[in-house]
Amino acid sequence: MAAPVDSLHSSALSQLHSDIDARVQSIRENRPGWLCGKGCDGCCRRLAEVPQLTVAEWSLLQEGLAALLPERLREIRRNIAALAGQRPVVCPLLDRTTGACPVYAQRPVACRTYGFYVQRDKGLYCDEIESRVVEGALANVVWGNHDAIDQRLTALGESRTLTEWFERWET
Ligand code: SF4
Ligand code: SF4
Repeated sequence: MAAPVDSLHSSALSQLHSDIDARVQSIRENRPGWLCGKGCDGCCRRLAEVPQLTVAEWSLLQEGLAALLPERLREIRRNIAALAGQRPVVCPLLDRTTGACPVYAQRPVACRTYGFYVQRDKGLYCDEIESRVVEGALANVVWGNHDAIDQRLTALGESRTLTEWFERWET
């Protein structure tokens, strides 16, 4: 069953995606060797916690999940069942063979900001990028503000872990 999401929250999420895309694009501009790209799945393999999604994010993610093959979905469910106590968390959605995200176009906000946004008490999240910063190689980057993103996510309403969303999902 699809999660109910009102159009206001859905358009607020679209606007949030556009704003993040603009920030990411401005950081990537003139930096062709930027670390993030296909084949780098370090952040998907080292999550601090099980992904947390608002209803609007889950509703979008469901569209991507619905397009996957049944066997792939079964594998994701098995990965979710194995999450208890796992730290760091390997994203249960990640294709562990190819290192690709099977729901890239529908991925949560946290995945879009990773490596491009700084959080007051957690820094940049990505060790690889952080070490470039320490070397002084990225001194002129204007990073996004993750605390502002969190505020906008909070305004989207209640959020649940991916595990909880799957438990409620009837397919
Ligand atoms: S944030 Fe870090 S680990 Fe993730 S894709 Fe970018 S460079 Fe790789
Ligand atoms: S949803 Fe996709 S991009 Fe986000 S952590 Fe999982 S595999 Fe990585």
